[in-house]
Amino acid sequence: MARPSATPPVHAKLGYKAADDLLLHLPIHYEDETRLSRIADLAPGRSALLEGVVERAEVLYRPRRQLLVSLREAGTEAPFHFRMLNFYPNQLAQLRPGVRLRLYGDLRPGFFGAEMIHPRWRMVAEHAPLAGALTPVYPTVAGLAQARIRKAVEAVLATADLDETLPDPLRARLGLPGFADALRRLHAPGPEDDVAGLERRSHPAWRRMKFDELLAQQLSLRLYAGQRRRRQAPVLAEAGLAERLLANLPFPLTGAQSRVLAEIRADLARPYPMHRLLQGDVGSGKTCVAALAALVAVGSGRQTAVMAPTEILAEQLYLKFREWLVPLGIEVVWLAAALKGKARQASLAALADGRAAVAVGTHALFQDEVAFRDLALAIVDEQHRFGVEQRLALRAKGADAAVVPHLLMMSATPIPRSLAMSYFADLDVSVIDALPPGRKPIATRVVGEAKRAEVVARLRDYCAAGAQAYWVCPLVEESEKLDLKAAIDAHAELAAELPELRVGLVHGRLKADQKAAVMAEFKAGGLDILVATTVIEVGVDVANASLMVIEHAERMGLAQLHQLRGRVGRGGRESTCLLLYAEPLSETARRRLRIVKDSQDGFAIAREDLALRGPGEFLGARQSGAPLLRFADLEADLDLLEAARSAAERLLHDDAAAARRHLARWLPHGFDWLHA
Ligand code: ADP
Ligand code: MG
Repeated sequence: MARPSATPPVHAKLGYKAADDLLLHLPIHYEDETRLSRIADLAPGRSALLEGVVERAEVLYRPRRQLLVSLREAGTEAPFHFRMLNFYPNQLAQLRPGVRLRLYGDLRPGFFGAEMIHPRWRMVAEHAPLAGALTPVYPTVAGLAQARIRKAVEAVLATADLDETLPDPLRARLGLPGFADALRRLHAPGPEDDVAGLERRSHPAWRRMKFDELLAQQLSLRLYAGQRRRRQAPVLAEAGLAERLLANLPFPLTGAQSRVLAEIRADLARPYPMHRLLQGDVGSGKTCVAALAALVAVGSGRQTAVMAPTEILAEQLYLKFREWLVPLGIEVVWLAAALKGKARQASLAALADGRAAVAVGTHALFQDEVAFRDLALAIVDEQHRFGVEQRLALRAKGADAAVVPHLLMMSATPIPRSLAMSYFADLDVSVIDALPPGRKPIATRVVGEAKRAEVVARLRDYCAAGAQAYWVCPLVEESEKLDLKAAIDAHAELAAELPELRVGLVHGRLKADQKAAVMAEFKAGGLDILVATTVIEVGVDVANASLMVIEHAERMGLAQLHQLRGRVGRGGRESTCLLLYAEPLSETARRRLRIVKDSQDGFAIAREDLALRGPGEFLGARQSGAPLLRFADLEADLDLLEAARSAAERLLHDDAAAARRHLARWLPHGFDWLHA
């Protein structure tokens, strides 16, 4: 007895939670079976529906096994052909002379005259009616036929709620069609519709979908922002400790630093959680602003957690925080995955009983076993390198669910305006827009690998004059092993070529204390050259280092190159960055290198980066795998985004019920990941 088959329903196969989700499963293109074309009128390459009567069907064996069918169109003399490279015996049996067929496909010039290869075909009676609407072609997955999707979509269209959620005046102002009308037009456009516009997604029906999607996003962000203001956070307003650090620092804050610090302090003094991004180019001095913020929390008797995406970055932060906070009598503990045994227990205990006011570390900070007595502020460095869930998890470390810690995120990668308006709409942004005084521009050169010997000679002179240099070996895609080998080889080579210089090596596989020792030695001037993998990408701070050589710069992303380069140019010396590349250089790589060479403006570079890579990188969404916008394109549809933003405000105010229905339609399963 056959077991009942457990074929999942169409929506599940396509990855949706509910059948109604199919409403918004929109076609990628259309096939026009609403009219019959004549061969004589057809331009090559354009798909069309033809009709003809079979004259002959034969199986050929050369150049390979195939079925060749000759047909004659009514009123023409010369036959045309179609070919099937895969076919079943029963298909051959159907194709008897005299049978009338309709074929859909594109006609191209072939060996036997005009022909179609693998058209869709079916037998028809003479004068069979034509389709009344265009045939949608949907995105699909292996093993799921278009016909099944079409049927499922039709069923949902017939039963689902297609009520209008936008007020008429708004629709009129934006020139958008009604929802039901737009949706029907997308799934089943009539012969009179602008198919090219539908396929290009510029048709008003598409604009309606994009607008709706953006509006849902805006509504959701606004509701969330409202919720945040109703949550409770500890009021942190005691500035005594921060003042003491300010007095101890060897430099005055820049105007930009003072301004952003004031913004952060104003947030911390409010009874609801801060949600602020501190943006500042590489080297702009975000760390000491973060430390001052932490001290406001500590001064109020509360704890701060400081998290960085890699161990080496976290270590750099840890060292800085210790340097600044320990003299004030504050205990700072370290927490990373590599920290084990007694040391780990000691860190955990100090956080749990509140002895340690500050914890610095990696992802390890938000594991279950980590309990804070009184977490009031979470600081996340290089926030875009964390997954969304990770940022949420750290925030969930507040002592009790009713009180939410303040959140300060930091990034050297500025968020482009379109993203700031959309995904980051509930985010306050502070920008450090000036570097500390005395920074010199970094001369950047792009050098072919053939000139490596010259580069090494240059390195020798540089170090002989007392400067220090980084030699960066890039990440080898997907292979930490190869990555490591490249760095080890480069280190051995350089040490052999420059015997009079002290060459050190640091990479991700070293133990934390080994890494720290090498970094400390370099910082103290005990090494002339530090060979490193991209572990030094951000956060590393050695003022005397003024030359950076980046090997295989063509493999690296824009932001990465900019961040790496930011490790030099911090001291009094003229600094140089040499971007070594290996042929062949792709067009994109060439463009990237040119951008980095020509610009030292992190904002300009980030804009180019967005254009080259899309928004996922900025959102940390790559890690979470969460979908971004499905229909709207933030850059191309900026006008709709702006319209959606003001409409969201109005709609929430004028017709909260409609806003709710709109959200239920577009985000039936929540949107939580956006709010991290
Ligand atoms: P980033 O913003 O890239 O994290 P850092 O906080 O690491 O930058 O700061 C870069 C360097 O500049 C550090 O050595 C830091 O001590 C120094 N610095 C920070 N603020 C100032 C300032 N106002 N004047 C002089 N140097 C500063
Ligand atoms: Mg930093």
